[in-house]
Amino acid sequence: MPLKITVIGAGAAGLNTSIHLRRFLNADVTILERAEEHETPGLGVALLSFARDEMRLIGLGDFVDGGAYGMPISTTTRVFAGSAGGPLAEEERIQEVDYWGVRRSELVAKLRRAAADEGVRIEYRTDITPDRVRTERSACDVLVGADGAGSVVRSTFAEEFKPTIREATSRYAWLQLTGRLEQFVFGYIYLPGQGLVRITAYPHAKDECSAIITHSAGLSGMLDGPGMLDADGSLSTLALETINGFFAKGLGGHRIVGSSRWRKFRATSCATAASGNVALVGDAFATIHYETGWGTSAALQNARIFCHILAHSRDTGLTLPEGMAVYARKTGEITAALVETTARVMDEVDGQADVIAEIGTERFMTLATP
Ligand SMILES: Cc1cc2nc3c(=O)[nH]c(=O)nc-3n(C[C@H](O)[C@H](O)[C@H](O)COP(=O)(O)OP(=O)(O)OC[C@H]3O[C@@H](n4cnc5c(N)ncnc54)[C@H](O)[C@@H]3O)c2cc1C
Repeated sequence: MPLKITVIGAGAAGLNTSIHLRRFLNADVTILERAEEHETPGLGVALLSFARDEMRLIGLGDFVDGGAYGMPISTTTRVFAGSAGGPLAEEERIQEVDYWGVRRSELVAKLRRAAADEGVRIEYRTDITPDRVRTERSACDVLVGADGAGSVVRSTFAEEFKPTIREATSRYAWLQLTGRLEQFVFGYIYLPGQGLVRITAYPHAKDECSAIITHSAGLSGMLDGPGMLDADGSLSTLALETINGFFAKGLGGHRIVGSSRWRKFRATSCATAASGNVALVGDAFATIHYETGWGTSAALQNARIFCHILAHSRDTGLTLPEGMAVYARKTGEITAALVETTARVMDEVDGQADVIAEIGTERFMTLATP
């Protein structure tokens, strides 16, 4: 009898898990996903080269190599820093790792098609509640929580997974940059006495770029002030104009556009990635900070490792609980460094606001920027 496996969440983690479960275990796999089939929030993500290898492994080489999708990102990055209205310090730097930018919607659509081709059933518009999670757990051999940063699987079994959750005091907005970029752009603008605003921009298609704006806690009052938010809580035209004003000199002709609310990043990591017949994969297990540029790549890899461990355990005569224990141990070890980096990076912008105030722009460029 094939293993009956239910996966909650059809993001990068849930889809790659399902594809490998079909291939290596011939499992009977169903994904339950709350979104509509063609609904994928978020703009572009930058993937590390090993994530493209993950895609090649599941037969999506054409997608990552064919040139029709995505955009290789130059290893030369541009960094600028300065005070609002003042002169800017600017530099080009070499980044050690290769990135490839891609629209998140295209990445997920390709993975969804690949999963369906492997025989995975995907039930869309199925928002899983804690009660349903419990029912699903008892009705299958293995339940996989791949339901992202706000995982209901994790919170339903919080006593088993023992998550630690910490919220950043800074906030971010996920926006777009007009025009074409070939490289990462990191910009820091200090508003004396108030705080620091940072932009991280990168191409995710030939003529499309993502722009993540992060501001230190001290700027919340100003950015939530009169006229800065629309009725639905998203940044108003005035807020976008204000932010464009901060970065205009550093961004040349590029403009920040789009729609987003200010959000606080929540770092979540669990004491274990598996308990009984439940495994957590991707952001559900450990939420990797967006500035690390690792989240999706790590989720894809984490998913494959989970399936390989289950298949290897079966082939070497281990029981399912023994295989799940190996997965928990290995995932804990592999993810530890990323969890540590996340803990450091999520408070960075608040610390950088103090550093730039103390040492000035020129030294800040050499000491504190990527
Ligand atoms: C601003 C920002 C920028 C980022 N940039 C990058 C980047 O450049 N590179 C990179 O590698 N990573 C980046 N990331 C991180 C990346 O988006 C995540 O790490 C990645 O999406 C994790 O994949 P996942 O499959 O674990 O979770 P998700 O992608 O969140 O997928 C979870 C899925 O579960 C579904 N789901 C959730 N709850 C339920 C429920 N109750 N019932 C049913 N379905 C449910 C969701 O609809 C979703 O489809 C960024 C993140 C942010 C916030």
